[in-house]
Amino acid sequence: MTPKKTSGKEIRRLLMDSFFPDRYNCICCNRELWSEHRLGTCPDCLSRLSFVRYPYCLKCGKPIQAPTPNPLEPEVAEEDRFGVYCSLCKKEPRHFDRVLSALAYQGEATRLVHKIKYASAAYLAPYMAAYMVDRYLQDPIEVDYVTAVPLHKSRQRARGYNQSALIATAFSQKLHIPYVQSVLKCKKTPPQTRLGREERKLNLKGAFTADRDQVRGKRILVIDDVLTTGQTMDEVAHTLKKAGAVHVYGLTFASVVETATPPQSPLPHGFRGFLARLKKGFRKQ
Ligand SMILES: [Zn+2]
Ligand SMILES: [Zn+2]
Repeated sequence: MTPKKTSGKEIRRLLMDSFFPDRYNCICCNRELWSEHRLGTCPDCLSRLSFVRYPYCLKCGKPIQAPTPNPLEPEVAEEDRFGVYCSLCKKEPRHFDRVLSALAYQGEATRLVHKIKYASAAYLAPYMAAYMVDRYLQDPIEVDYVTAVPLHKSRQRARGYNQSALIATAFSQKLHIPYVQSVLKCKKTPPQTRLGREERKLNLKGAFTADRDQVRGKRILVIDDVLTTGQTMDEVAHTLKKAGAVHVYGLTFASVVETATPPQSPLPHGFRGFLARLKKGFRKQ
């Protein structure tokens, strides 16, 4: 067997490791950093990340592309005009009290989530947790402990870890808030990403179980990597509240952005309006 040839890149890495054992690289572009950065991110990548800023849903924290206020509809409530609640939270009650997210699920934020979930990049957990610490401190909520959205044990075995639990552990260490895994996933469910909203809801029904002794009377912060429709967070909150939790909040690294629905233009006045109303009436029958 011929000995394996060491590439130039590999030699450079070995040399760098021996001279500079504490080398730090950007978690997004892998560029070398001069010193350890709390977020593990170089200034260029940091400027490209999309942080969740107002307007976002005051219930699920989802960034909203607020529609431009329609000057022809002055009677529409301020909060509806500026989209304080996303369309899902307006439509149905949620079991969680509130969810906060650090970043919009776009660009590098999406790649980081994919890396920790599917490319064994467990080392990302403390950096992702640092982004979540910053978000949490902007809007601190008093809680008794943090917990993580659990994985079914078969999926956790296949992946080797639960990325949300790693992030929750790092988050709890940074803020000295206890971490208690008081909720478990007892039902194996197909991945949520391939399902529609109603299917997601059915898919998760009865999927979690909580330890009543650890949950009764508690205010709990549930940590997850991404908030998509919020169904998983909602079902976990439902399970925790059924087990006696007083408040259930959520915190995720990223959140899918809700795209704006253009404001409905009112029917015109006069004869044209009369015809349009007539047509609308016929369509309903
Ligand atoms: Zn970078
Ligand atoms: Zn919402």
